[in-house]
Amino acid sequence: METKDPKIRTRFPPSPTGWLHVGNVRTALFNYLFSRHHNGALVLRIEDTDKERSRKEFQDDITEQLSWLGLSWDECYRQSERLEIHKTYLRQLLESGKAFYCAHSKEELETEHKRQMEERAIPRHICGQRDEGRESGVIRLRNDTDVTLSFADRIRGDITFDPQLLGDISIARELESPLYNFVVVVDDAEMNITHVIRGEDHIPNTPKQLLIQQALGFSRPIYAHLPLLLGADRSKLSKRHGDTAVRDYRAAGYMPEAIVNFLALLGWNPGTDQELFTLEDLVREFTLEKVQKGGAIFNEEKLAWMNRAYLRSLSIEQLASNLTPFIEQAGKKDLSTDFIKRIAYVEAPRLSRLKDVETNLPFYTETSVYDSTLLRWKGTQDYTEIIGHLKNVRQLLCDIPEADFYDMHHIEAVIMPYATAHSRGNVLWPLRVALCGSEKSPGPFEIIYVIGKTEALQRIDKAIKLLDT
Ligand code: GLU
Repeated sequence: METKDPKIRTRFPPSPTGWLHVGNVRTALFNYLFSRHHNGALVLRIEDTDKERSRKEFQDDITEQLSWLGLSWDECYRQSERLEIHKTYLRQLLESGKAFYCAHSKEELETEHKRQMEERAIPRHICGQRDEGRESGVIRLRNDTDVTLSFADRIRGDITFDPQLLGDISIARELESPLYNFVVVVDDAEMNITHVIRGEDHIPNTPKQLLIQQALGFSRPIYAHLPLLLGADRSKLSKRHGDTAVRDYRAAGYMPEAIVNFLALLGWNPGTDQELFTLEDLVREFTLEKVQKGGAIFNEEKLAWMNRAYLRSLSIEQLASNLTPFIEQAGKKDLSTDFIKRIAYVEAPRLSRLKDVETNLPFYTETSVYDSTLLRWKGTQDYTEIIGHLKNVRQLLCDIPEADFYDMHHIEAVIMPYATAHSRGNVLWPLRVALCGSEKSPGPFEIIYVIGKTEALQRIDKAIKLLDT
């Protein structure tokens, strides 16, 4: 059993080089859950040292989406603002002779690499001119280690490496431009990170980071490498599998609670059949011991199922307010709160995502032009018969007091006996077409309930007129 330790500090260090994607959020979430479980701290570190690829809008997207998902952090840093700290440690390594400026040009290194590939040799650079005393160029860590490197991964067990395979590790393009493996080690140590929880694609970086840590005399954090996220075809999850940016899921109308719940189960298993968890539940239950080694499949259908479960758990008022921006985005900006609540009520069982509200929206908000023949049940019904039914239904609706009109089941209870007495299709088909002008739509009682008495009567009148001319 893991014991609670408030000294625990985790970090989430995304690079702002693209829209925050679900794989990264899964990593953020596991770090969040682990630190919160222990009343520890989570550090958000924006790794923006790649000036060409880092963009402010991507950085804003990281904080915006994390906040939307309810994942908070305790401290936030931008790596680019820490250059002086990184340089101090680089100089320290240079001065102590543990690092050196490599004399080889890019071309020479490329030729060496090519030759190694051809000879099927280990691709590495062991610099023959470590002690030339140069003062510019790529900075490398002198790697004379011949002792096997190993670390105890909390998820994957002991992992060992032969350090000789690594050659002299490049740690900076130049003094002003330190590289990932170096800055990550410095920052993790400076920020007192106790647990490095990240994707298993970083395992190959770990031995390099261990060597840099040793050279700087830093203590070693605990590593936990999370299983890869896989698409339905079991290959590594990528854009090819559809949306991967959180903002796209948000725009499609996934609830933050559903995304968090879904991502938590990608690699973590509570050990029970429970599938629905609030963020609080997850914080309470989460342990690294229950994280699996094998890849976790990102199943869109499961996410949609979870989203449905969350949408159903909302009150009509909550659902209506969540639907409002999606209705507005579909161009309907002036609907009353009550109208939207009625849409929420009838559409609730059909929604997998909030954006799905667009499908039936036109039936409630617009009247369409249609051909009178569409009003015929099975295309053969007699016009006079249809007019008779529409008039009778109109009368029944007229007789319902306004106060009872906002009860969908009451409307149904008034009309159904009439429809049943005259064979349902004969009455309900023309009624529904009169209300929506389309072959397919929500049921007539749903439409009547949403649009209200006056509008319903007007639409029926329009149909009667269409048949009469
Ligand atoms: N910036 C790195 C990334 O986004 C961080 C890797 C790490 O966790 O060390 O992949």
